[in-house]
Amino acid sequence: MEYVILAVVIAVVAIGAITGLVVSGKRRRELDRSSRPPTITAPAKPEPGTTATAPAKPAEGAAEPTAPPAATGATQAPEAPVVEEPAVEEPAEEPTAEEAEAAPAVEVPEPTAGRLVRLRSRLSRSQSTLGKGLLTLLSRDRLDEDTWEEIEETLLTADVGVGATQELVDNLRTRVKVLGTRTPDELRGLLREELVKLIGTEADRTVRSVKHEEGPAVVLVVGVNGVGKTTTTGKLARVLVADGRKVVLGAADTFRAAAADQLQTWGERVGAHTVRGPEGGDPASVAFDAVKQGIADGVDTVLIDTAGRLHTKTGLMDELGKVKRVVEKHGPVDEVLLVLDATTGQNGLVQARVFAEVVDITGIVLTKLDGTAKGGIVISVQRELGVPVKLIGLGEGADDLAPFEPGAFVDALLG
Ligand code: GDP
Repeated sequence: MEYVILAVVIAVVAIGAITGLVVSGKRRRELDRSSRPPTITAPAKPEPGTTATAPAKPAEGAAEPTAPPAATGATQAPEAPVVEEPAVEEPAEEPTAEEAEAAPAVEVPEPTAGRLVRLRSRLSRSQSTLGKGLLTLLSRDRLDEDTWEEIEETLLTADVGVGATQELVDNLRTRVKVLGTRTPDELRGLLREELVKLIGTEADRTVRSVKHEEGPAVVLVVGVNGVGKTTTTGKLARVLVADGRKVVLGAADTFRAAAADQLQTWGERVGAHTVRGPEGGDPASVAFDAVKQGIADGVDTVLIDTAGRLHTKTGLMDELGKVKRVVEKHGPVDEVLLVLDATTGQNGLVQARVFAEVVDITGIVLTKLDGTAKGGIVISVQRELGVPVKLIGLGEGADDLAPFEPGAFVDALLG
């Protein structure tokens, strides 16, 4: 009997021990699981200049991560990153409202007043031959027929055009005769006056960009591919922004693949929105949408870059005519600027003629006058179209588009 009691006691103790072991093992595994650090993905390395986000905080109530317990059978992530909660939030890391606002790099272009005077060295580099040539010829002891012919030749070579050259030579001949003496200063003054007169000081050379009661002013920019039309539209947006206008751009040159991207980049730099359509889409519909956007945004000016394919005159006429008609559903077009590459000389004049037959040009932009262009093109193109040169391009830089000023231009020509 004693043996039976002893056997029962041993059995009970053994069962108790086994149960205890099982329970403690289970409990240990549970504890292990809860004390294991939560899975943490290392925060992506912040890009320079971006705000670093604080690493995720472990869930409330979760055990603080500790060193992994001794082998539990579970696979332990090797060297789980230690999560450190920042003791105090570093306010310096959070951008202030002002900093956040300043972050997008919207440029403030330099004011346009006096830009031509500042850029005149660009012009005189290649143009001064005209001014210097004329001054040298006029300073000769004897102004005989041969000399006047040479003066005429110089003007024609500088793209001044036949009519304007004749007028200038006639006026100079008369005034030199009346003058009697001819000091270099007098001659320079004379030539300056006559050239300025030929270019004209009466015309309104401002780009009509002031908002109307009903909506924004609309400016169409036209010209053949390659003359610098899109670049000029972008630069003009800067000119207008610099002068305090709010601008929307319309990328209606849907035929040249990169034109819309190019224009949008220009716009972004000065915080101007660019309306664009699908590549190869209808330019008129982009132009229409751009004006619509301009009205909705309450901007001063909508600048529309148009397609410049000079495939056939009829094609061009249809395309530009449609753009203008469709835009006019919103209101009148204030300005049609024709962009011409000044280095193309007579060819530029031919293009000007074609465009003038298609749309009513209200102003001319002569680009690339910093290159090998002849300054006389300013005179001949104005005569050809009967509209003023309003802006000139003097380089590829963002602010190398200058409002045209006859006096400053002639001063640059005369060196
Ligand atoms: P688009 O086809 O008429 O729209 O021509 P782009 O606007 O793409 O310009 C054609 C090229 O002319 C670009 O390389 C421009 O940087 C360049 N360009 C535009 N205006 C001027 C300028 O006034 N001077 C110089 N040197 N280059 C210019």
